[in-house]
This record gives sequence, structure tokens and C-alpha cells, in this order.
Amino acid sequence: MTAEGAIVEDRIIPADGHWGRVVRRGQTLRIIDLEGKQAVDFLCYNAEDPSERYNAADTMKYAGTIFLTTGHGIYSDMGRRLFTIVEDTCGRHDTIGGCCSAESNEVRYGAKDTPSCRQNFLRALTPFGLGKKDIVANVNWFMNVPVGPDGKMGIVDGQSKAGDYVDLRADMDVLAVISNCPQTRNRCNGFNPTSIRVIVRERALAAESWPSEKEDPR
Ligand SMILES: [Zn+2]
Repeated sequence: MTAEGAIVEDRIIPADGHWGRVVRRGQTLRIIDLEGKQAVDFLCYNAEDPSERYNAADTMKYAGTIFLTTGHGIYSDMGRRLFTIVEDTCGRHDTIGGCCSAESNEVRYGAKDTPSCRQNFLRALTPFGLGKKDIVANVNWFMNVPVGPDGKMGIVDGQSKAGDYVDLRADMDVLAVISNCPQTRNRCNGFNPTSIRVIVRERALAAESWPSEKEDPR
């Protein structure tokens, strides 16, 4: 049903790698967890005006859950859909854990100068003229952060198997950036960061799932 269009980009991103591009409206971004249990830190912005960007709290409120999956929108702080999740073979992703940084690794683990998603986000954002002020609470594809009835949260083993993927259909021209998480001090990558694959495709000619606000399952 999805991701049938011509390939625009097909790239392997190694552990601790970063990536960014403008995904045009109607194109689909597929993120594949090649080996399983790999956290993929993700941010996105209106490509025309990046001051409009992903808003974690509103995305969760509209979805009515902290666990995003097929049918949910990735919303901006202006109440507009940046992406729609049109396919998800994993079913468990994180919206609350945020990205790792050298600073938080020092606070949590006493480890100095570690590689981090924050650094990778900065590397990915710099070519687009964005920087520290543009890093907000992010989505972590394939990362598993359950919350218990008592409110306790924790980073536990991801549920993704080798080859699991999410397909994100751009609902406007979106700047998307990725850090392929290098964390080795908690379970977010199963203590073994591995490569992912990113495929951007043109809209399929017979796409049946073009956005309809009337069918918005938020
Ligand atoms: Zn990370």
C-alpha cells in the first residue's frame, strides 16, 4: 500500500551516524532497523519555515497515547501534520525519553565526552542553518520506554526485530534529521549500536492513503 514510488535516496547510516534532508510533500521516508533493537533519534521541521517544528506534547495529546504507530500524525507546534505514520512493523516507539547527550551521559553514568545524539543532531542541522536552539524533545523510533502504573519509566530492550521499519509520509515539505543513536550505557540499543537504512521514495501513482483530514485518526 505504501512506499511504492521511485527511490529518491537509499542510504545506510552506521551507528553514531547522522542524516538530514528535505522530504517533499507526498514522498515517503522509510526507516529500517537492519539488525533490531536500534534507537533512531528523529526531529522534523517545516522546510519552508523551520521555526515550525515537531511538538512532542501535542503529538501525544492528538494521538491519545505516548506510543505512536500506524495512522498517527507527527504534528508541529502549529497544529499541522508534518508526517503521517502509514506503516509500522514494530509497534513500539518512544516519545518521552529524548536524545542522549555527552552532558546527560556524564550526569547519569559518569562518562565524559561520549558520542551522542545531540552532537549528531547538531551535525545534521548545521547544513540547514539550524543549531542548538532548534533541538527539541524528539521521537525515538524503535526505542522502548514503558511507563508503569506508578509513573515509573525506564529504557528497556527495544521490540524491533531485524528488518522492522516505519514508513512516514510527508504531509508538507519537511526537513527530517536523524541521529543513529551511539548509546552503549543503557538498553536503548541493546548495548550494541548498529546500522540503519533510510529510503526516500516518491509518492506512488496509485497511493490510496493520501491525507484526508476527515479520516484523521488523532
Ligand atoms: Zn542517543
